[in-house]
Amino acid sequence: MPTTLLPFDNTYARDLPGFYEPCQPATVPEPVLLFFNRGLAEELQLGLAGQDDAALAAMFSGNALPEGAQPIAQAYSGHQFGQFNPQLGDGRALLIGEVIDRHGRRRDIAFKGSGRTPFSRRGDGKAAVGPMLREVLIGEAMHALGIPSTRALAVVSTGEPVWRERTLPGAILTRVAASHLRVGTFQYFAAHGTPEQMRQLADYAIARHFPELLASENRYLEFLRAVAERQAALIAQWMHVGFIHGVMNTDNMGIPGESIDFGPCAFMEAFDPRAVFSSIDEMGRYAYEAQPRIARWNLSRLAETLLPLIADDEGQAIELATEVIDSFMARYQHHWLAGLRAKLGLRGTVEHGDHVDTALGESWLDLLHAQQVDFTLAWRRLADAAEGNEAPLRALFAGQPGLDLWLQRWRERCAFEDATPNITPRATSMRRVNPWLIPRNHRVEEALAAASDEGDLTPFEQLLNALQHPFDEDPALAPALAPALARYAEPASGEFMAEFRTFCGT
Ligand code: AMP
Ligand code: MG
Repeated sequence: MPTTLLPFDNTYARDLPGFYEPCQPATVPEPVLLFFNRGLAEELQLGLAGQDDAALAAMFSGNALPEGAQPIAQAYSGHQFGQFNPQLGDGRALLIGEVIDRHGRRRDIAFKGSGRTPFSRRGDGKAAVGPMLREVLIGEAMHALGIPSTRALAVVSTGEPVWRERTLPGAILTRVAASHLRVGTFQYFAAHGTPEQMRQLADYAIARHFPELLASENRYLEFLRAVAERQAALIAQWMHVGFIHGVMNTDNMGIPGESIDFGPCAFMEAFDPRAVFSSIDEMGRYAYEAQPRIARWNLSRLAETLLPLIADDEGQAIELATEVIDSFMARYQHHWLAGLRAKLGLRGTVEHGDHVDTALGESWLDLLHAQQVDFTLAWRRLADAAEGNEAPLRALFAGQPGLDLWLQRWRERCAFEDATPNITPRATSMRRVNPWLIPRNHRVEEALAAASDEGDLTPFEQLLNALQHPFDEDPALAPALAPALARYAEPASGEFMAEFRTFCGT
């Protein structure tokens, strides 16, 4: 089959020799295209519009790599559940190449599940259909929610079984990322590399993700600050949609500030700050409420690798880096509060102290927690209440007294802003930030089971379609859409959530 030329420009392979191992994807027996993201392909300017499914399956299985591709396995280390593992790396992933998208942004195109690499250790290098389609659903949902995320370009089933607790159909995901640089990449070269390599890596990351820092006086310190800023913003966004990543190891924290690696992640239903779903996270290290703290911890690990670059004098370097790490929680709080105000329908005028709104938000969350109210629906129905329709909100709460008191406080707070003219009605602006649809765990599982066990992609496609419009519940349309879409908004039963666990090593 003739190969297609893609407009690759592979800076990582070209500029960072010694930071990766060249490696070819394994050939697969029977590639079938399960998913192709045409919108994303266009955004990436791949020029694939004329290709049929068979050609795309051949390309995105690795059987017919496009011309210009330069597959490499990237080296990285990582702290996994707090334990340092010096030797991780792309054990089942390959960076195929980089392209410049329609907006002038450089993006990585990478395979996941394409076979063994020099970093595979005891793993088979493979992936299964269910978990790879899960990456599609979560990544596209995140993107539609306005949260920076890696995204899926394609999923191809391989026609080959993979062996986990049971035999599963194999698949390869093609993942698009701003880059695959991680905290763990820096840890690898701090542990194994030369000082010159550390500088090379940091300069590469700065040029690629923060070019505005190239001229700054201490670019490595500013780099740390910039990464911290993006993480603070990202984690605040996760918290506001009830997203629990599940495995925030340092090798899963991306330098560009995108959500990456959707293994054991889940969206919370009934609000519980201690919610954790990952089967292996027995201590709740990566529980919902722990995420800001863990992000800070991971950034400290990044900071350690940068110390020799920040200042020649170690004491001074530590002092400078510590100031950045110590400012993380305030940074996070700033983003969280801004997001909270938007969710509450507040514009946040100066005469209202931050502590007033923070307290208002926290007491709302306490209320949701105490009454085990569905996080997503509570926010969405609060928008209805902003229009005077309180019944749907009240229906979510078992007891009313706490709610009445809180609603009164909220209305009083809103009233402060209602004196000044606002073009957008409060309910409308609230509906733009409080999604109606999130990837409900029971619906995701249902769709993945149909695809993986029965080869039926229809539930997956319908769910994906719905998740691409998470804010679009039109009250006027609701009756017509109800049977098809309302199921995706329904919380899972208490029994389902009590049993629900997500798995790593997928
Ligand atoms: P993850 O939990 O997906 O972030 O992966 C953690 C590490 O384990 C990375 O170095 C992966 O490349 C590696 N890994 C995960 N699954 C496999 C597999 N099936 N074969 C080889 N390496 C794997
Ligand atoms: Mg990972």
